[in-house]
Amino acid sequence: MSEIAKKVRVRFAPSPTGGLHLGGVRTVLFNYLFARQHKGAFVLRIEDTDQNRYVEGAEQYIIDCLNWCGLSPDEGPVNGGSFAPYRQSERKENYRQYAEQLVKDGYAYYAFDSTAELEEQRQKFPNFRYGHENRNQLRNSLSLSEAETKEFIDQGVPHVVRIKVLPGETVHFHDMIRGHVNFETDLVDDKVLLKADGMPTYHLAVVVDDYLMQISHAFRGEEWLPSAPVHILLWEYLGWKKDMPEWVHLPLILKPDGNGKLSKRDGDRLGFPVYAMNWTDPKTGEITKGFREMGFLPDAFVNMLALLGWNDGTEQEIFTIDELVEKFSIERVSKSGAKFDIEKAKWFSHEYIKKAEVSCIRYQILDALENRGIKVKSEDYLDQIITLVKERMTYLQDFWEQASFFFLAPETYDLDSVKPKWTDAKTDYFNKLNTQLTSFSEDQWNPTDLEASFKALAEECSLKIGDVMLPFRIMLVGGKFGPAVFDIAALLGKEETELRIKKALAVFAG
Ligand code: GLU
Repeated sequence: MSEIAKKVRVRFAPSPTGGLHLGGVRTVLFNYLFARQHKGAFVLRIEDTDQNRYVEGAEQYIIDCLNWCGLSPDEGPVNGGSFAPYRQSERKENYRQYAEQLVKDGYAYYAFDSTAELEEQRQKFPNFRYGHENRNQLRNSLSLSEAETKEFIDQGVPHVVRIKVLPGETVHFHDMIRGHVNFETDLVDDKVLLKADGMPTYHLAVVVDDYLMQISHAFRGEEWLPSAPVHILLWEYLGWKKDMPEWVHLPLILKPDGNGKLSKRDGDRLGFPVYAMNWTDPKTGEITKGFREMGFLPDAFVNMLALLGWNDGTEQEIFTIDELVEKFSIERVSKSGAKFDIEKAKWFSHEYIKKAEVSCIRYQILDALENRGIKVKSEDYLDQIITLVKERMTYLQDFWEQASFFFLAPETYDLDSVKPKWTDAKTDYFNKLNTQLTSFSEDQWNPTDLEASFKALAEECSLKIGDVMLPFRIMLVGGKFGPAVFDIAALLGKEETELRIKKALAVFAG
């Protein structure tokens, strides 16, 4: 654990524009681990200043995702905190003063160009960028006289505030993953800071709020790196540089072939989710699948994400959240992108289901059974079934495929596997077996006694155990699958086992 001088306060600052990509959840996770490790605070701040991109329900969805993952924030729109409000739209009044201060200090200016005028520029110059090369020819407080500017403002001409980036300079900053980073200001355009409706843009709001909320470390995806120079300049221009957070730009999560950032479309194309939970687009009703609904346990999902771009330097892959809190270090986060591998994700899912306490998955399975109209005899019965089949499950949903025969007797049988080799001796065997089973006491009805008597009878009938074992399985489950057959019979109970033998025998011998 590295020494950190200031009080750790980190934030996840999503814009509520849709589903939460697994890269977003990984940002949450690294924030969370870092905060816990340094006994700091993890803040959720909703960056909803762009009304055009606002999507109904997206904020609640983000909160639900964090809760599902067990990565709930210490401060945020739900539980509040000393820096409330945590929704930028509710902080609107905060931002203007800083934009005005920047104008006053000569670091920003008013721009009156209409949408049509800007469009005309874009038509004329396909690479149009509002900046030092052309700002003196455009309609703003740098090109207009003071009196004209004042007149426009007094008349209420719509205007924005833009940052004034000086050319010919180099912006330097330190990133905890990338080390020294620099950008030439010649390539940075004069971004809008305050929009005509008085709302700040992301650039102004993120800096003001990171400052006001005393954020110590800013974790975010690498895709925000190009915006960093504007932010660094703002920290400088606002006179806050000594309070600037440490920057931590996380590597991208890449497509399985390593060619570019993993997108929702890749997931659709390759048949796996990229969102944490199902997301329903409120406009189109389109549902994008999530890891939760695919049947991942949240701990498996979180563990899988931790390893996307980080490792502890050993071969260890399975970590509890407490181990992650203890072992996480920014120094071990890689600079290069992490390829997403669905097979690896499945492996994590399988490992977690295998080792899950039955009580942790019981109710989800019970819900799914209820949705299918299945009534379960007792919780204890369900627990025994879960114990028996969970090591065969990759996802929670696999329970039905692995265990449906415990609730519904087979309707059809894999006859190709029994019919061609059926003999009268086998009919005889199963009739005898049924008679024998009838005399079993409650106590004897267990896998060991069942197996012993099954084998003894086979010997008595001069049949090889292998000849009757497979038909027995198919009688009970319908096909060549499932856990150990005597475990199945033991759980199905005497009456049901006898019934299934009888019913199948009529078909097999018929
Ligand atoms: N609001 C930005 C987003 O949607 C946050 C980027 C940052 O953390 O600075 O991801």
